Amino acid sequence: MIEAICLHRIHDNDSDVPSVFHDINMTIQISDLLGMLSDLDATNRISNTTTLVTFDDGWRDLLLIPEDFFDKHCTLMPVIFLTDAQLTGDLTPMPLHRLYSWMQQNDVSLTDLPELQINRNNLKDLRVKDQHQLVSIVTGETQHSIDYLTPSEVSQLKANGWAVGSHGPEHCDLRLLNDDELTNLLSTTYSIVQSNNIKPWIAWPEGRWNNRIANIARELGFERQFGLVEENRRGTDDTVVLRKLW
Ligand SMILES: [Zn+2]
Repeated sequence: MIEAICLHRIHDNDSDVPSVFHDINMTIQISDLLGMLSDLDATNRISNTTTLVTFDDGWRDLLLIPEDFFDKHCTLMPVIFLTDAQLTGDLTPMPLHRLYSWMQQNDVSLTDLPELQINRNNLKDLRVKDQHQLVSIVTGETQHSIDYLTPSEVSQLKANGWAVGSHGPEHCDLRLLNDDELTNLLSTTYSIVQSNNIKPWIAWPEGRWNNRIANIARELGFERQFGLVEENRRGTDDTVVLRKLW
């Protein structure tokens, strides 16, 4: 039984997304995805189980999924996890997404990054404003197209039965914040969750969480929390749902 899966980008043709998303296995071809989801739905029907199909980072790609797909595959429940910025209509590309789009435009590959003094893993640890600053040094202020779902598209998906939850106050390693900083940020996130009338659920960015931050989120009212099977450096709290990356 698969309790939850996690998706990022979805493409029809390979060239629909910057090639780095292929290199880091964070994109899936739409017909492959629909086939895998249909198989999962068939298995779920036999075992009488359900699976949450979760989408992180708010990419518009998920609109490639036919509108009636989840009605026809009713053991699968679609959920979108959005950051505070995305939930409040700020569609500024996240720093790593800016970097990937610049890499595509300039034919820069992952292996070229060390030369540019960029370490993708270290970048992810920083607060978002510091990530932006570092990325700007390399990329300048390149303009990017908006590839995220707009608030009206999110509302439409909600009206079609999709659930929406939080992807955290910002896309960084929230374990590196102290109790007070995190409590402040997550309280704001929780008010955004309430004012948007979405699920009091949180998917930790990059699946990075530990028992300390899981407790803080629970005390603030988050009813379900999600990590990733693939992230080894995680807490032991077994109420946190571990999603499988597809
Ligand atoms: Zn994310």
